[in-house]
Amino acid sequence: MIDQAYPYRCCVVCGLEAATCLQVAHLDHNASNNAPDNLARLCPTHHWMYDAGLYPIEAIQLLQAHWQTTQGIPNHKVRMKDAGAKAALSRKRSAAARKAVATRRANAAVGG
Ligand SMILES: [Zn+2]
Repeated sequence: MIDQAYPYRCCVVCGLEAATCLQVAHLDHNASNNAPDNLARLCPTHHWMYDAGLYPIEAIQLLQAHWQTTQGIPNHKVRMKDAGAKAALSRKRSAAARKAVATRRANAAVGG
C-alpha cells in the first residue's frame, strides 16, 4: 500500500535509502489506519523522534511529498543562477589584488 503511494523509498527526514533500516510509521499512532496520508517511511532514529513528538505530522507529510517529487535528486539551480557573474567578479578582484601586491613589492625594492 505504501509502495504504491510513495514509490521513492527513503526516510522522509534524513533520506536514508537502506531498505532494511526503513520502518513504516503510522502518523496518527493507530496501527490499523493504513490510509496513505497516515503512513511514512522513517529510519529507526527518526521514527523514534516522530513518536516522541519532536516532528509535527505536517512536516512529515510535507517532506514525504517532497521526496516523491525530487526522487532524491538535488536541484542546484537556485544556488547556481548567478554563479558565472560572481566568478567573473572574483577573477577581476584577484587580478587587481595580484597587481597591488606586485606594485608594493616593486616600490619596496626601489625604496630599499
Ligand atoms: Zn532518518
